[in-house]
Amino acid sequence: MNNLRNLELEDLKKLLESMGEKPFRAKQIYQWLHVKLVDGYDEMTNVSKGLRDKLAESYSANLPETVEILTSAIDGTKKFINRMQDGHIIESVWMKYQHGNSVCISSQVGCRMGCKFCASTLDGLARNLTSGEMLGQVYLMQKLTGERVDNIVIMGSGEPLDNYEEFTRFIRMISDENGLNISRRNITVSTCGLVPRIRNLADENYGITLALSLHAPNDETRKTLMPIANKYSLSEIMPAIEYYFEKTGRRVTFEYSVVEGVNDNKDEANQLVKLIQSMKNKGKLQCHVNLIPVNPIKERDWKRPDRSKIEAFQHVLERNGIAATIRREMGSDISGSCGQLRRDYLENNK
Ligand code: SAH
Repeated sequence: MNNLRNLELEDLKKLLESMGEKPFRAKQIYQWLHVKLVDGYDEMTNVSKGLRDKLAESYSANLPETVEILTSAIDGTKKFINRMQDGHIIESVWMKYQHGNSVCISSQVGCRMGCKFCASTLDGLARNLTSGEMLGQVYLMQKLTGERVDNIVIMGSGEPLDNYEEFTRFIRMISDENGLNISRRNITVSTCGLVPRIRNLADENYGITLALSLHAPNDETRKTLMPIANKYSLSEIMPAIEYYFEKTGRRVTFEYSVVEGVNDNKDEANQLVKLIQSMKNKGKLQCHVNLIPVNPIKERDWKRPDRSKIEAFQHVLERNGIAATIRREMGSDISGSCGQLRRDYLENNK
């Protein structure tokens, strides 16, 4: 059954009009769904029982169901396992930082991009999530923690730009002033580099931050980690990134998962400097690099380099004027994320 949370306000208005209702009803119902975050129709007390019953014939108003919450004893990070209406399981993460509460949400059940170090893609793509299911992840975390969400990263399972329609509707709805009204400046989307979609997103000019999963400074190494590198070369990706910056003025993030013996040498750091500087020096880019120590998954043999090696890599970038951070691991005592959580849950609940 379709979910009422998949409808933007304008579409909800049209639906209600077609049912012979007054337009103001749409705003009321939208507020129940997207501000008061109700789970179902029962709480919509200012909407007639007749209308609720009629809507319920074709649309559910339920949120996904949280079946497990893991809380880190180290830093308070919470990892949520949610069950969708059709039984699919996905994961989302809540992190507390000094600058506010950040959540990381999934955009698909599984993924078809095939990155070699990522657990989300091991069994391929099950299905896309709807915009309502993406919103639902944020709403559940806000409800269950009782705290407001400040920042959103779409960096959980799935490739958001491979689910473009639902993902962009999610962006419009989460930042809608009639809903949670989260500033688009506080939203980051991460992509493995679907070039035409990066350009589409630049044209939409939502003002969200783009993070590109680079993971290697040349096509050859990139292909060993990411099958998508066979489809789009860096000579296509980099101009698309420039285009995104040119259109939006937003500083771009390059994610670089550091894997021992694969992409962690000084030589690779220097290649990365060259790749980025060619754009920076022409004023075509403001960016920073986020180094992610690879999170080993049991199905594969990737190893995390020593901390000193990752720091040496970082220093090469910094010495050349490229801002670089090493991602701090959150909730390391409650299982990794990026699809590992979902896999663990499914294995333990067979
Ligand atoms: N499909 C999107 C979102 C993926 S998750 C993308 O490709 O960008 C966010 C980031 O975590 C990506 O950069 C992804 O490559 C990285 N990642 C996934 N699994 C990882 C692991 N086991 N160790 C380190 N980084 C990982």
